Amino acid sequence: MKRCTLAIATLALCLQATTSWAAAHIRVLIVDGESAAAYHNWKATTPVLKKELEDAGIFDVDVMTAPPAGDDFSAFHPEWKKYGVIVMNYDAPDERWSAALKQSFEEYMKGGGGLVTVHAADNAFPHWKAWNEMIGVGGWRGRDENAGPHWIWKDGHLVADKAPGKAGVHGMRIPYAVTVRDANNPIMKGLPKVWMHQGDELYANLRGPGGMTVLATAYSDPANHGTGYDEPQLMVSRFGKGRVFHMTMGHDVYALSSVDIVVTLQRGAEWAATGKVTQRVPATFPTANTVSYRTDFSAMDPNAPKGLNPLDQALPARLPRPAAQHQ
Ligand code: ZN
Repeated sequence: MKRCTLAIATLALCLQATTSWAAAHIRVLIVDGESAAAYHNWKATTPVLKKELEDAGIFDVDVMTAPPAGDDFSAFHPEWKKYGVIVMNYDAPDERWSAALKQSFEEYMKGGGGLVTVHAADNAFPHWKAWNEMIGVGGWRGRDENAGPHWIWKDGHLVADKAPGKAGVHGMRIPYAVTVRDANNPIMKGLPKVWMHQGDELYANLRGPGGMTVLATAYSDPANHGTGYDEPQLMVSRFGKGRVFHMTMGHDVYALSSVDIVVTLQRGAEWAATGKVTQRVPATFPTANTVSYRTDFSAMDPNAPKGLNPLDQALPARLPRPAAQHQ
């Protein structure tokens, strides 16, 4: 009997521990299913995003895959409110989501939801007003000056460049320096002032209504078909009571394995869900002179068995730029 009582007590303790452990976890929903045709391999990147979030030890991560173009969306009703944060690894045109679906997401965000957008998610929905207010800026899908000004970082401030033109450009995938512009935001606390990001597309000339706080920028070098400006790369916004973390980086698995993406994704997701960051910055974080990437994540690249995903080769300046129009 005594042993039985002990067993029950142990079981109760275990249940209690399990319950509190589960309660402490933040529920995350990754949405995918489409991203600029085959250009962004979301089937390869979503498992990496999921593993990176789970690696933080504070998230429970679900994935919901939206139907493809032309399919029936009537059963696609994400239960937004079950989640502390929604991670969008998704890029689709305006007409893909019904007004009711868009409305449900707006209500979730207004009521205090969390959103993280990764890379080409800021290409999505060019004419969905609330979406563009959430992300602050976006690119491609026909965006131009009508979407809003091109926002750049100049003399310590976010400045609106109102010159007309198409939104969205990037150069070849090469490593580049990221500079912190708001060291006080919880996501950025403890990060070095400047670090090197693994080879990736450096998004530039993004346009939109603005309203975001810029956490970090990168210089878009004209030598790599850039704008010659410091361009926002990590941003936060508020939408009603909701919080948004906008990350322009993360073109592919190789880029996503860069330790700065892993860390800012984990911290940004926690902040979007709770307004706080409890995670420590790892000693492996890149420095001003060195890139740093996680081989356990880069090995998830579909091309990993062939060796490391090669970065884009630098072309002589006289040759045309084939990649600049891609997303
Ligand atoms: Zn891309």
